[in-house]
Amino acid sequence: MKAMLLNRIVDIALDPHPLEAAGLPVPQPANNELLIRIHTCGVCHTELDEIEGRTMPPHFPVIPGHQVVGRIAAVGSKVQNYAVGERVGVAWFYSSCGYCEYCRSGNENLCAKFKATGRDADGGYAEYMVVPESSVCRIPEVFSDSEAAPLLCAGAIGYRSLRLCNLKDGQLLGLTGFGASAHLVLKMVRFQFPHTKVYVFARSVVERQFALSLGAAWAGDTSDIPPDLCRAIIDTTPVWKPVVMALKHLAPGGRLVINAIRKEELDKDFLLNLNYPQHLWLEKEIKSVANVTRRDVMDFLELAAKIPIKPRVTEYSLGEANKALYELKQGRTVGAKVLKIFQPE
Ligand SMILES: [Zn+2]
Ligand SMILES: [Zn+2]
Repeated sequence: MKAMLLNRIVDIALDPHPLEAAGLPVPQPANNELLIRIHTCGVCHTELDEIEGRTMPPHFPVIPGHQVVGRIAAVGSKVQNYAVGERVGVAWFYSSCGYCEYCRSGNENLCAKFKATGRDADGGYAEYMVVPESSVCRIPEVFSDSEAAPLLCAGAIGYRSLRLCNLKDGQLLGLTGFGASAHLVLKMVRFQFPHTKVYVFARSVVERQFALSLGAAWAGDTSDIPPDLCRAIIDTTPVWKPVVMALKHLAPGGRLVINAIRKEELDKDFLLNLNYPQHLWLEKEIKSVANVTRRDVMDFLELAAKIPIKPRVTEYSLGEANKALYELKQGRTVGAKVLKIFQPE
């Protein structure tokens, strides 16, 4: 099978071709695993974090990609709930221990043995992959393969971020950064919290215009002063300045939810502008979002089908994975990027 392999840590700014095309044997599913013929795989900012070493794969080479949509091509001998031909999705959750306190309480995203698709196990930048049957979810019919892929990460983690905001209908929500995840959050908010106004903070004018076209009540630069203070803000940027600015724009008792697996180091000095009375006092909170649970993915897909949420996608071939990653790094396009790997008749 064709696959795009990550062999080493690379600085994409210096080497825009971090992944290598390879021909590999099709993997065989173990007893409780499914073999998936991959149709599409979303391209996520977390791949940049893996490639550049901020969240390091434990072994090389590894096939990245954790927003996988495909059909089951073969099942292991102990698989019970899925059959060949069914369309399924694989998200960031690949496996966990299954018996610790976190796993038993539905918080497997926090398990010490948490394994991520496309980092700790081979993922979706390939024609096939294997995955435990307990880790996949069915994809609602309403979505095409390309539409479904970005929902599995950007959408599911956006859903979890919004859940962690503890927002009530009518309370003001801020979004800093307006990429794949944030634009899906805006669509969710308009459905779940119809009286909530959303303010969007983004450096890019294109992103701000996109936000306003989707119904944001206000959009400005990260350091612009919004018309009101926000009850919660979700930060999806890879850097630090927006964190400090967001804390300033929070209302008393407000919560900043940081949806980023890692932050980049470039502007870390900006944290020295943190001023306790202005940014933290009055019971402001900061919470990070770690991974997603299987429940998040399933609940979100159900919600997304109901709304319905159809992400705006740009398609690339598997061989164009480096180009998609480079463009993501440059932040030049809006919406979600998807590798179209196999087109069924
Ligand atoms: Zn992702
Ligand atoms: Zn566990």
